[in-house]
Amino acid sequence: MHRREEVLVHVLVLNADWQPLHRVRLKHAVRMLFRGVAEVHEAEPDRMIGVWPVPKVVRLVQYVVTRWRHARGPIWSRAGVLARDNRICGYCGATANTIDHVKPRSRGGLNSWLNTVAACYSCNQRKSDKTLAEAGMRLRVTPYAPNWATVGVR
Ligand SMILES: [Zn+2]
Repeated sequence: MHRREEVLVHVLVLNADWQPLHRVRLKHAVRMLFRGVAEVHEAEPDRMIGVWPVPKVVRLVQYVVTRWRHARGPIWSRAGVLARDNRICGYCGATANTIDHVKPRSRGGLNSWLNTVAACYSCNQRKSDKTLAEAGMRLRVTPYAPNWATVGVR
């Protein structure tokens, strides 16, 4: 599991149609919640800021048109990887709720579209911070950088 070890500095902002827009500082995200322009989409368990759980992902209440969004693909996000892979584990085909770094983060693997796949809990545990060869596992899919349509609403 790589999920909880990350120190969360930035909060991912999703547009009203669930597409990732950008990241903002936690303070900024809380201000957006306070002003009612965004709502909590995914939160840190057991941590609160005032009346809100500490957000990891917030979603804009109203759709915002961005000029650049069609010019380049969406930025990497865990939610985006799960959407791209239809929540199907890249190793065994089971339902995936986590993402795995193909090249482990501990070995310099990046948070990038090409280095991450959706993974079920048990495959994620099994692979841990090993390489594919070390874990004796094979990918059923080839990770790719999606365009906007790929990570759209499902
Ligand atoms: Zn699996």
